[in-house]
Amino acid sequence: MESTDSEHFSLTDLPEAVETMSNSQILKLRSKLVKLKKMLKENNCGNVKIGYLQQCIRAQKHKNLLQMIKTEKAKAALLTKEAKLEDQALLLQEKEDKLQAKKEELKLRQASVERMREKKQAVEDTLMQDSDQLKSDAAKLQTKITEFSTKKETGYSRFLRNTVQELRGNIRVLCRVRAGPEEGVRVRNDHLVEVTLESKRCLKGMKVGKEKGYEPKERFVFDHCFVQGSTQEEVFCEVQNLVTNALDGYKVCIFAYGQTGSGKTYTMEGEYHERQLYGIIPRTVVHIFDLLSQREKDQWRFEIQCCFQEIYMNQIRDLLDPENCMTQMNKASSYEPTLVKVYSTESEEKQTPVTEIFDLLKTARENRVTSDNKFNARSSRSHSIFQLFINSVQENSEKKVKFEGCVNLIDLAGSERLHKTQNVSKKVLEESKAINYSLSCLKDVIQAISSNSSTEDQEVENENHVPFRNSKLTYFLKPQLTSESAKTLMIVNASSESAHIPETINSLRFATEVNKCVVSRSR
Ligand code: ADP
Ligand code: ADP
Ligand code: MG
Repeated sequence: MESTDSEHFSLTDLPEAVETMSNSQILKLRSKLVKLKKMLKENNCGNVKIGYLQQCIRAQKHKNLLQMIKTEKAKAALLTKEAKLEDQALLLQEKEDKLQAKKEELKLRQASVERMREKKQAVEDTLMQDSDQLKSDAAKLQTKITEFSTKKETGYSRFLRNTVQELRGNIRVLCRVRAGPEEGVRVRNDHLVEVTLESKRCLKGMKVGKEKGYEPKERFVFDHCFVQGSTQEEVFCEVQNLVTNALDGYKVCIFAYGQTGSGKTYTMEGEYHERQLYGIIPRTVVHIFDLLSQREKDQWRFEIQCCFQEIYMNQIRDLLDPENCMTQMNKASSYEPTLVKVYSTESEEKQTPVTEIFDLLKTARENRVTSDNKFNARSSRSHSIFQLFINSVQENSEKKVKFEGCVNLIDLAGSERLHKTQNVSKKVLEESKAINYSLSCLKDVIQAISSNSSTEDQEVENENHVPFRNSKLTYFLKPQLTSESAKTLMIVNASSESAHIPETINSLRFATEVNKCVVSRSR
C-alpha cells in the first residue's frame, strides 16, 4: 500500500499540502521519507557492486584474451614442430629403405659366399679323392714294380719306380703325432691331446680332456698322417720307396720338423739298441744294403760314403770328428767334412758297412749340440744332417750306366717360438732366433722350388729366384734340392700334450704351407 502511496506522491504538491496536513499525515510522510532514504542508500550500494562486477568481467576478459594469444602461439609452434618431425620421419623412412636394400644385398652376397664355400669344399674333396685314387694306383704300380725288379733290375723298372714317385709328388708332407709319455710319467697339464683322423690323410684337430673340450677348429690335410701308436716300421713303409730312389741316382731329402720333444730324433734315429725302435736313418742303412746286395747280382758296382754334420747357429760342424768341431767353426772356409767310405763292391777286404755306419751314428749322436731349455733337457738346438752318397755303375757289353744318388736325412732343430723360451740365457735366445730363421728360410726355398717346377713348361727366364743363400741350412742343401732328380719329404712331428697345442698348431700350419706346394705343383 505504501509503495502505491509513494508512487502518487509528488514533491511539487508539498508546500500547500504541508499547511493542510494533519500531524498523522506528517508522521506518515516522515516515515515514508526514511524509507525512501533507505532505498536510495541501497540503490547506491547496488550500483557500486555492479561497477565492481563490471570491472571484474573486464579483467577476466583481458586475461582470457592473453590466454588465447598464448594458446595461438603454442599452436603455431606445435605446427612447425610437427612439420619438422614429418620431415625427419621421411628422412628416416628413406634411410630405412636404403638399409633394407643393403640388407637384401648382403643376404645375396652371403648366400653366394656360402655357395662358393661349398664349391671349394667339393673341389677339395674331389681333389683329395683323386689324389687318394692316384696314390692307390701308385701303390699298386709299386707292388708290380717291386715284383718285377726283384726278378731283374732294368732301366725300365727304374723309370717306372720314378714315375710312381712323380705321381706322388716330388715334395711330400707326412705328419706324425707322437704318443704320450709312458705310464707313470706325469704329464705337465694332466691332459693328453687326442688327435682324431678324418681319413688317413686328414687330422681333425685336437681334443683335450673332456672338461676342457677343445673342439676341432681346423682341418689339417697332409699326404699321410700317423696318429698315436704308429710304429717306426709303419712310418718307414711310407718313406722306403723314396729312399730306394737314391739307388737310382736321385737326391732324396727327408726332413723331420717339429717342436722340441715332438719326436723328431725318435722318428729319424730312434733307439739303436732295439731293432723295432730303429728310426728312419738305421732303417735306411739296412734297406739300402739289402737292395744293394741284390743289384750286385746284376753286375751293378757300388761305392758308398757317409757323412754326418750339424748346423748350429748358422755354422756347420762335423759330427764325426769331435776334435775338429770347434776349430772348424772358426774357419769355415777351409772346412772339409769327414767323408767315410763305408763300402765298395771292388774292395777285397771283408766289409761290415751296416755295423760301421751304426758306430758312426752313435758317435754323431754324442757330439750333437744340446742345450737346456724349459721343455726338454736334451733339447736339440742344431739341425743334423746325415748323408749317404751312393755311386753306382752297371757295365755290360752294350752300355755303361752310372748313377750318383744321395740320401739326406735331416733332423731339424726344435721349432719353438721365442716367447716360450722366456727366462733363459741370452745364448738360448740367440739359438732360438737362428733356428726359427733358418726354418722359415727352408720353407721359402721349398715354396720357390715348387712354384718353379709347377711352371716348368714355361720359359726358363720366368723362374723365381730361390733364396738358397738366406741361411746356411738351405745353402748347404742347395745341390741336393736343386738337381733335376731331387725329391723332398717333410715329416712334421707333433706332440700330444695339451700344453703344447699352440706349438703343435704352429707346426701343422707350417707343414700345411709346405704341403700347399704339392697341390699347386700337381695342377
Ligand atoms: P698362442 O696364443 O700361443 O698363439 P693359442 O692358444 O691362441 O696360442 O692357440 C694357437 C692357435 O691354435 C689359435 O689360433 C687357436 O685358434 C688354435 N687352436 C687351439 N686349439 C685348437 C684346436 N684344438 N684345434 C684347432 N685349432 C686350435
Ligand atoms: P725331439 O727330437 O723332437 O726333440 P725326441 O725324439 O727326442 O724329440 O723325443 C722326446 C722323447 O719322447 C724321447 O724320449 C723319445 O724317446 C720319446 N718319443 C718321441 N716320439 C715317440 C713315439 N712316437 N713313441 C714313443 N716315444 C716317443
Ligand atoms: Mg731331437
